[in-house]
Amino acid sequence: MTKIPSLIDPFERTIDYLRVSVTDRCDFRCYYCMSENMTFLPKKELLSLEELDRMCSAFIDLGVKKLRITGGEPLVRKGIMTFFDSMSRHVASGALRELTLTTNGSQLVRFAQPLWDAGVRRVNISLDTLDDAKFAKITRWGRFGQVMDGIDAAQKVGLAIKINVVALKGANDDEIHTMVEWCGQRGFDLTVIEVMPMGDLGDTDRLDQYWSLKDVRTEIETRWTLTDIPLNTGGPARYVRVEETGGRIGFITPLTHNFCESCNRVRLTCTGQLFMCLGQEDETDLRASMRDHPDSDLPLHAAIRGAIAHKPKGHDFDYSRQKIAGEMTRHMSHTGG
Ligand code: SAM
Ligand code: SF4
Repeated sequence: MTKIPSLIDPFERTIDYLRVSVTDRCDFRCYYCMSENMTFLPKKELLSLEELDRMCSAFIDLGVKKLRITGGEPLVRKGIMTFFDSMSRHVASGALRELTLTTNGSQLVRFAQPLWDAGVRRVNISLDTLDDAKFAKITRWGRFGQVMDGIDAAQKVGLAIKINVVALKGANDDEIHTMVEWCGQRGFDLTVIEVMPMGDLGDTDRLDQYWSLKDVRTEIETRWTLTDIPLNTGGPARYVRVEETGGRIGFITPLTHNFCESCNRVRLTCTGQLFMCLGQEDETDLRASMRDHPDSDLPLHAAIRGAIAHKPKGHDFDYSRQKIAGEMTRHMSHTGG
């Protein structure tokens, strides 16, 4: 029997989870993620759909078991279903345990069924508010009704849904109880994320947005009974069960709790740069290793192994002392959230 290879980093962490940003573009302009006037990459810089396939397949050959497609908004990339359809062969063969995506939900009416057909069973949908007017403010360009229709469509085809909420002081801090209740009623898991210092936002100040998840949890506990559950997804979330609804909440706390010791993931940008850590600048250009060798994946495999051998121990984000440390110049939409 052939042994399935695995990618192990210098801190003995097995890397079996790849997140891939397939575009830096988006149909929204969420104010904590992008500035209103973004300059996007020229389209010719992006990996083609065939190159994305080759790149992801190389990681799967090396032991990656979970693939999350993200962006930017992955579902606005032209022809993206061709890519999902081609990835479905890895799900069918059992090489890939999970093919999934993170989306703002705007295109799900159209894509929920094809995604299901390609083997996707779970989606993360980002939704920071249940208030129509607030939604328009937070996303700048988004339409709430369209996203709600998308969520309905995803649920209808049978996709399991996790709602991602970024905790934003002054924006959705008065809505957390409504969110917990709504997710409970609809049968959705909920993940609350601390805002991270990624990318220049123009006039917007990060510290004004930051709402610590310690405070979020304290607020939730004024109304709901939370029980810690030992759910380990290898990811950064700590999970609790809401006794009143039976729903789950995950807290992603890059700033108040360092989760790096169990990190199992790396991130590929839409231009083929591999980031070993969301919060460090270290990157490896895999595009060149791939393009320079059209007939063999061996140099690409070697480049991937070489990059993993330099995965850093962790990140240095810190908002303490009223200044931001560890800030990244790139936006989340570039590396993929
Ligand atoms: N467009 C898709 C979406 O919104 O789900 C996928 C890409 S988006 C960059 C992925 C996730 O990152 C979203 O849940 C978004 O809310 C989150 N995000 C974006 N900028 C962030 C930041 N500065 N800090 C924390 N989360 C952020
Ligand atoms: Fe677009 Fe997602 Fe960023 Fe919002 S969070 S601007 S939907 S990439």
